[in-house]
Amino acid sequence: MSSRARVLVLNSALGPLDYRVPHGMVVEPGSIVVAPLGPRQLTGVAWEAERMPSDAEVGDNRLRNLLAVADVPPLRAPLRRLIEWTADYYLAPPAAVVRMALSSNAALEGSRTATEYRATGHVPDRLTPQRAQALERIGERQGLIRELATIAEVSDAVIRGLVKAGAIEAVEVDIDSPFPVPDPDHAPPQLSDDQRAAADTLSAGVAAAAFAPTLLDGVTGSGKTEVYFEAVATALRSRRQVLVMLPEIALTEPFLKRFHDRFGCEPVAWHSGLRSTQRRRAWRAIAGGEARVTVGARSALFLPYADLGLIVIDEAHETSFKQEDGVHYHARDVAVMRAKFERCPVILASATPAIETRHQVALGHYAEVKLPGRYGAAQLPTIAAIDLIAEPPERGRWISPRLVTALGETLERGEQSLLFLNRRGYAPLTLCRTCGHRFQCPNCTAWMVEHRLTRRLACHHCGHVEPVPRLCPECQNEDTLVACGPGVERIADEVAALFPEARTAVVTSDTIWSPARAADFVARMEEGAIDIVVGTQLVTKGYHFPNLTLVGVIDADLGLDGGDLRAAERTFQQIRQVSGRAGRGAKPGHVFIQTHSPRAAVMQALVTGDADAFYAAETEARRDADAPPFGRYAAIIVSSEDQPAALETARAVGRSAPRVEGMEVYGPAPAPLAMLRGRHRYRLLVHARRALDVQDVIRDWLGALDWPAKVRVAVDVDPYSF
Ligand code: ADP
Ligand code: ZN
Repeated sequence: MSSRARVLVLNSALGPLDYRVPHGMVVEPGSIVVAPLGPRQLTGVAWEAERMPSDAEVGDNRLRNLLAVADVPPLRAPLRRLIEWTADYYLAPPAAVVRMALSSNAALEGSRTATEYRATGHVPDRLTPQRAQALERIGERQGLIRELATIAEVSDAVIRGLVKAGAIEAVEVDIDSPFPVPDPDHAPPQLSDDQRAAADTLSAGVAAAAFAPTLLDGVTGSGKTEVYFEAVATALRSRRQVLVMLPEIALTEPFLKRFHDRFGCEPVAWHSGLRSTQRRRAWRAIAGGEARVTVGARSALFLPYADLGLIVIDEAHETSFKQEDGVHYHARDVAVMRAKFERCPVILASATPAIETRHQVALGHYAEVKLPGRYGAAQLPTIAAIDLIAEPPERGRWISPRLVTALGETLERGEQSLLFLNRRGYAPLTLCRTCGHRFQCPNCTAWMVEHRLTRRLACHHCGHVEPVPRLCPECQNEDTLVACGPGVERIADEVAALFPEARTAVVTSDTIWSPARAADFVARMEEGAIDIVVGTQLVTKGYHFPNLTLVGVIDADLGLDGGDLRAAERTFQQIRQVSGRAGRGAKPGHVFIQTHSPRAAVMQALVTGDADAFYAAETEARRDADAPPFGRYAAIIVSSEDQPAALETARAVGRSAPRVEGMEVYGPAPAPLAMLRGRHRYRLLVHARRALDVQDVIRDWLGALDWPAKVRVAVDVDPYSF
């Protein structure tokens, strides 16, 4: 056994470092350790030295001792290979990827219990306004002192004062308490013949326990979830672990409920909303193998599963699987790699697969399982385009007469409607009618969006908010601000004016910010307490409301504006998904798509439902442009608060671009968001033939440059927009 260990410490600026393993300590590859660095102690992971070259070779006599090994299983080889692959492919520091696997030290904090706090119900004698606010906001919630202070928006000291006063008490939480084990035979469904065939194929893959990616391609409402649940059941029967990835935290709650119905208990949920104690408990149970099924967002991908037997990516086409800050990665693609290293099957479920995924099927790399029709009596909805030029809405309105009529009829029948507009707030732009002043975010190249519910102007990129002023800040005139264009709140106002008796709900990330709020929305829909939903992309997927029979798309052209190569594909996916919410039960569904260009290929494809022809044409366009999935792109984004420094550096990067056969470099040009959170951003776009190892080229190229301290560079391999 070697007395020397190579360690990736959790500091992205540092490469691997060597340490001495003191006598009696057992360190193997994957062990989670505490290492000294200067006067500090850092968490790190021991690694095979030969796989992680170090430029700082240190002689035996100068090595420092490791301080401790965590009492958790070492990260297994498949996860270590995934971390290496991710760092390599996405040009990220390995330590930054390791950090995702350790999920902010959930691994380390050793003891088996944690102390959380909760209100006792006792009202303290001295009830200051801050204390009252804290107790009201905390309500029945429980958490660390720091977490309760954050919820209550008070200082830690206020919470500690409440503990002393007896209004909040400590509770010991056992972080090793077991999770219930889902029962594969709890409530199996009666599958249709199509579903049975699909489920058998997927289950056979799980039983074979080998790497095998499969596209589960089924129209909305075909029962994809029921079908992949059979594969989950097979994995459970062979006592293996399953990871189900969802694109959006808002979909977690309905998923948990469905899972509970099928398997008799909830799976382990992993998302950014967990309390630190919940994270620790879940992390340990996943590493120990007791957590059988984990459902989570992107970050669940790097958890230390003890024995992964299946990965499911639900709504696999969703763009939110692409992570755009920190380590830039595509969770769909990394999930496939994880399955490869774990030697297990991976199911990509979607009614509107990405062109990249279809291409993998065409190449024979992925298998395909199809569900051609909706389950049971449900039929796919009828879809019609409304030409906004031929049938315009009334002046100052956004809903055209035909859609108004359909809404009225649906309301009369006691059925539910959904109006879709992918724009939060009341209006996307506010301007002064006297002087023309427009409200722009001080930190970003973006207009401030008016939110009437909160009476504020908000930037959707950095979160900057300000109150809506009474006077124009430029010309000081009163009552002169006008809202331009619609957001969901404005559509909801229009609905209220048209149908005062209708019960309306606005569903966006502003109103549904937690799983609990999502659950509340679902409950109100199910009990029929809502007639008309006005929502953003948040309502386009996952939900199943049998009484929802009408879908209206307010502005189908919205996503086509950007003009990037994915615009048509994205529009097709989004509108088809939202259309898929209509008529999922016994009652027939109807969809109206408002557009200025009803003859555009994507609108035609939506109306006729001929997805294959649309995909074929789009794929050819990509082939002609040598765009993904044929050629590939990487974006290099140079940013700084100092605009000349950012531009100068970006130009220097451009000048030093290597000449490589099969690779072109465009730019620098202002990035799509030229200023973001106060940083000026320039982008160079690298376009390369697929066969070229573009990462290698970029690594050498950028590695040879000197970077001014105030300039940051980020590489986005396979960027979403190009
Ligand atoms: P998809 O994910 O393909 O849109 P879902 O899995 O959400 O479809 O199924 C749509 C609805 O039909 C759900 O309410 C589901 O419970 C129901 N369903 C599908 N298949 C069956 C089945 N075999 N037995 C009972 N209900 C089913
Ligand atoms: Zn901003």
